[in-house]
Amino acid sequence: MDISSKDLHVAILSSPGMGHLIPVLVLANRLAAAHKIKVTILLVTTGVDQPESNLLKLPLDQSLVELIKLPPVDISHLVGPSTQVVTQLCIMVREALPLLHSAIASMDRRPDALFVDHFGTDALPIAAEFNMAKYVYVPSTAWFTALTVYCPVLDKEIQGQFVDQQENLKIPGCKPVRPEDVVDPMLDRNDQQYNEYIKMGKQIPLFDGILLNSWEELEPKTLQSFKENHILSSLVNSPIYPIGPLTRPIEPAVSDHDLIQWLDKQPNESVIFVSFGSGGMLSAQQTIELACGLELSQQRFVWVIRPPTKGRVDDAFFNVGNGSDDNPDYLPDGFLTRIRDVGKLVPMWAQQVEILSHPSIGGFMSHCGWNSILESIISGVPIIAWPLYAEQRLNATLLTEELGVAVRPEVLPTKEVVGREEIEKMVRTIMEGKKGVVMRDNVKKLKIGAMNALGNNGSSYKSMCELVLDIIVRKGDIIGV
Ligand code: UDP
Repeated sequence: MDISSKDLHVAILSSPGMGHLIPVLVLANRLAAAHKIKVTILLVTTGVDQPESNLLKLPLDQSLVELIKLPPVDISHLVGPSTQVVTQLCIMVREALPLLHSAIASMDRRPDALFVDHFGTDALPIAAEFNMAKYVYVPSTAWFTALTVYCPVLDKEIQGQFVDQQENLKIPGCKPVRPEDVVDPMLDRNDQQYNEYIKMGKQIPLFDGILLNSWEELEPKTLQSFKENHILSSLVNSPIYPIGPLTRPIEPAVSDHDLIQWLDKQPNESVIFVSFGSGGMLSAQQTIELACGLELSQQRFVWVIRPPTKGRVDDAFFNVGNGSDDNPDYLPDGFLTRIRDVGKLVPMWAQQVEILSHPSIGGFMSHCGWNSILESIISGVPIIAWPLYAEQRLNATLLTEELGVAVRPEVLPTKEVVGREEIEKMVRTIMEGKKGVVMRDNVKKLKIGAMNALGNNGSSYKSMCELVLDIIVRKGDIIGV
């Protein structure tokens, strides 16, 4: 199947935040590069300086992809200090809807379809008003999506907090969810973000199609259940398009040459990369334990380090990793000197995709954000799963119990400090243990499966073609088929 249409125009509404913008940018590039579709990304902004600006250097197919930053929305009068992330995101998108409306109304070339991410489901009426096909992009797993669309049913069936349940939460046809693994908005049913999540679960099935950053071979059972399980398929009538793994390319323009040169000198698969996503931070005590655990493991490492408390990194901090004795006070005494030959600390932000794809990287300690997991899989790197927030506990369980590509601590790192001995053990397990060999083997198989899925005639490529065809059919314009 080869579907391309120069005549299609798709608008994608992106909610704010790196983790949301990255998959949208990557999807836009894919639609443009593989299917010659014109894409306009409409980014909700807040006026607060966010590191997104870095990302916008991500090479876009300039002739076909345009990024428009919507004017900033001010939600300060609608939120308080205790307003949770999901609530904030949903409010931001809601406040931006009039801006989205004007942006679309003023376009010379009206989009044929509106895509939104899962925080943008309130944009549904705008798609209807402009007579556009409408798709929701959940840049995560089928399992997460199943939990989200089924949560309104669980809401009616289950009394009390989900986290207090004695039994796992059953989702028809899918792996049950352990109460402690539920996504953040399900942690407290009295919080507004729970209501937002329920609303999201009810709205997702109202779209013409649901795009997932997953692929058939990664989650066959769950994806099958969307088609064949009568309860799940009656909840979600619209087709599911697993089009992943969509990941960022390496960005040579922002390469960290010194670090890459150091990695070049290390043996193959001998370095563990430690990073907790775009916003993950550890407590002071956990930072110390992690430093000690890495040191005890005697493995080489690259650690994207952030001060445990909020605040800017001072200049002295930027000397870390260069053999400086300027040991920040939140690291163990003399740490920098001792690890000089085996460890590199990168303050705040690293070129993760480039690092993970380097041949010397042999493991990844990750907070299990879905982008990070996909980047690890396509680099063939096994994981130490260190879930922190959002749907990351679910992701960690998928990696350890279904896919066999990760180890995880006995306790949830958000509940208890993970001790240095356990960290040492996990690092040794994936870097030099027998289990590590099996996990490396498993992840390399997943990598091959992922490449096949994206290749011509692969499942994700076909799914993307079906999606494009659906847009064409809805446009009533059967051309290019
Ligand atoms: N990232 C990066 N360098 C960093 C931290 C994060 O390039 O130091 C990128 C990472 O490669 C991924 C994204 O930021 O593409 C983080 O997305 P993810 O879904 O993993 O987690 P989130 O940050 O949304 O929790």
